[in-house]
Amino acid sequence: MRPTAFKPQAAPVRPAQLETPHCYLHRLCVANCIDPTVVASLIAQRATDGHRHQMALAILELGGPHPIHFARSYLRATGAQTDDADKLLTDTYRRRTAVRYACTFCTAGRDVETFDHHRFCLCLRHGRWLAPGHQPHHQRPIPDVSAWVCAERHYRRAAATGFLTRRLIDATWHAVRDQAALLGPPAWTQNLHTAQALPGFIDGIDDRLALHPQTARLLRLLALPGTWYAVDALARSPEHLRAQLRRQLAWIPGDAWVLVEALTAELIYSRQARMQQLGRLFNRHPHRNAGPF
Ligand SMILES: [Zn+2]
Repeated sequence: MRPTAFKPQAAPVRPAQLETPHCYLHRLCVANCIDPTVVASLIAQRATDGHRHQMALAILELGGPHPIHFARSYLRATGAQTDDADKLLTDTYRRRTAVRYACTFCTAGRDVETFDHHRFCLCLRHGRWLAPGHQPHHQRPIPDVSAWVCAERHYRRAAATGFLTRRLIDATWHAVRDQAALLGPPAWTQNLHTAQALPGFIDGIDDRLALHPQTARLLRLLALPGTWYAVDALARSPEHLRAQLRRQLAWIPGDAWVLVEALTAELIYSRQARMQQLGRLFNRHPHRNAGPF
């Protein structure tokens, strides 16, 4: 039996950048004075009747964006690649626990959940820090507009290359913090100590903000194709990879062994993960491996 269709609503709601469909549907219901729990139960009822992707259809029927909009947002946020439309819709409309929050200045104070991503770290329009894993009340003004905005542009360009995984970005930030805490250089340590001395300091939020320029500069290095050529060539010889990194990090004053050790281990791990991923890809399409002979 064909399920009853929802009616288009009078008050349209514009989706925020990378917003999740669950958050969008909730905002659409609130804007049109509909109880979201009633809509959720109707969607669940339609799903139990054997109809798939009912949330995608419900949002469309209520006057929201086409499912392609949310699927594109999901792909942009996660970097996922799939040629299975059914799986893509399932993943896009799955309720998720890990989300990022949009800049509350951009959303007029509303808490808008977006797909978990590593495409950007701050709102360039309002200069607000949108750290990974933050809550809306953790959003902060950046300490220095010119330096942090410049770093953010480098960060975005590096993240867009596709060379950086979430794990590598997080590991780089941890390595920068450990380097600053243990060895310096003084500018890094001063940034960290100044942030730690401020009232309301939150570990993982304020220290990450304080060291964003340094982290972005390192990520820019790790996003260069030449870095990965070196990693491919030297992965079996960690000592040579360390020496290569030491040369590339010569702009850091003083001893940077904490950084070099952490990055060497992470780069070797990232290469191994990439090779395994490629292996799975070729095994999934064995006919494409067949040569002309
Ligand atoms: Zn903003």
